[in-house]
Amino acid sequence: MLTNGAPTPQGNTAKSDAAFRDVFTSDTNYKLASSSISFYKSIQEGGFNLGMHFNGYLFLMDERNLKSMAVQSLLKRVKSKVISREEISELGIKTDTDPEAAKIMGLKNIDGGFVGENCGIMEPDLLASYYVRELENMGGVEFRYNTNVTRLNLSPRTKLNFPGEPFIWQDKIIESIETKSSELFADHFLLATDVWTSDLTSPLGIDPFTQPKKVQVFQVQSNGIVEMMKKKVTGEEDIFPFTILPGPSIDLRPDPKSRTFWVSYSEGIGRGFSLEENPMAEADYYSNNLYPVLREYIPAFEDARIMSSWAGYYSMNNMDGTYVLERNMNLSVVTGSSGSGIMKADAAGRLASSLYSGKEKAKLYGGAEIRVADLGITTRRVDQETLII
Ligand SMILES: Cc1cc2nc3c(=O)[nH]c(=O)nc-3n(C[C@H](O)[C@H](O)[C@H](O)COP(=O)(O)OP(=O)(O)OC[C@H]3O[C@@H](n4cnc5c(N)ncnc54)[C@H](O)[C@@H]3O)c2cc1C
Repeated sequence: MLTNGAPTPQGNTAKSDAAFRDVFTSDTNYKLASSSISFYKSIQEGGFNLGMHFNGYLFLMDERNLKSMAVQSLLKRVKSKVISREEISELGIKTDTDPEAAKIMGLKNIDGGFVGENCGIMEPDLLASYYVRELENMGGVEFRYNTNVTRLNLSPRTKLNFPGEPFIWQDKIIESIETKSSELFADHFLLATDVWTSDLTSPLGIDPFTQPKKVQVFQVQSNGIVEMMKKKVTGEEDIFPFTILPGPSIDLRPDPKSRTFWVSYSEGIGRGFSLEENPMAEADYYSNNLYPVLREYIPAFEDARIMSSWAGYYSMNNMDGTYVLERNMNLSVVTGSSGSGIMKADAAGRLASSLYSGKEKAKLYGGAEIRVADLGITTRRVDQETLII
């Protein structure tokens, strides 16, 4: 089943930064992201514009992190380079922070920058349009937008027609799903319902092992930011890199069209797991949490103003920060993208297809393979990701 668009303002794809990177420490994440990036690149080069720009990811770091094993092995694995303090200063970023502010807010000095070059930004609505077009061309697919699934109906595989079925000793399946106005039957159901998955599976006793974490985005502009937008560290276009501060690791997503930064931060302790129907960015969050840090590192934020703001959810798998794929009966579930789902979406789709067809391995674009069971819950075998932004 393909779900798309409940009546409430859901859908984290449209709310995301839609940035992509192959810079991951976990081998699984690397395969998922790098194969998806290659696929998207091939689509764009084939003439379907996905709004992809290879403007790079810039991780600003102190000397300890720059020299870490993780960075040294990433330099060998992915197309990347290190840039100097001088090059960072030229971008409009202060490399030495005020000692008093650094003490209070845990800021770090910047000794260099790790630049992932096979990384950048894209437009998620264009990516979604591409898959819709392909599915329409394949035929046999019906889209039902604005249709909320309210319930999965559990039934015995062989019905006895006694009240209270299914009993504990009966073999069970999902017979149908319910919407407000209809009941839909299928041999197999696939939930790609992101942070809303447990709303549907919990009543059945199926735990997707993911939690929703709210993330806010503030679109910010000043004359200084407009000037910064013209600078670059990699790629052919003059577009500022997607930038991650060294601590707190606030990220800045350039939006070349509006010449603004989208600022966000993925909180750990202090931000509970919760799910609101229509999440909003919190007015004080920018001024009390983000702004004091931003202005210390980047003077162009001093007089910047918020143009707009929004909020969405990461579907957090807190075990290892990547997808969860699980099949129970005739129900397959794909969730837990943990804040990096668009950049891995093509691979996730190929894994979902293998999960549904009962294949042992999924073949990703470019030929790499992943064992489907490695992303399962009880059969899981994923190395820990240390670069969750
Ligand atoms: C602020 C923010 C920034 C992000 N930045 C990035 C980034 O830079 N790069 C990146 O790769 N990822 C990023 N992400 C993560 C990315 O957005 C998600 O991983 C991705 O959008 C998940 O896609 P999805 O299709 O699984 O879920 P969604 O896009 O959330 O879609 C799920 C769909 O299921 C529907 N649905 C749910 N329940 C039901 C129901 N009961 N009945 C019918 N339909 C239902 C919803 O309406 C929705 O349309 C970010 C996320 C946020 C919130």
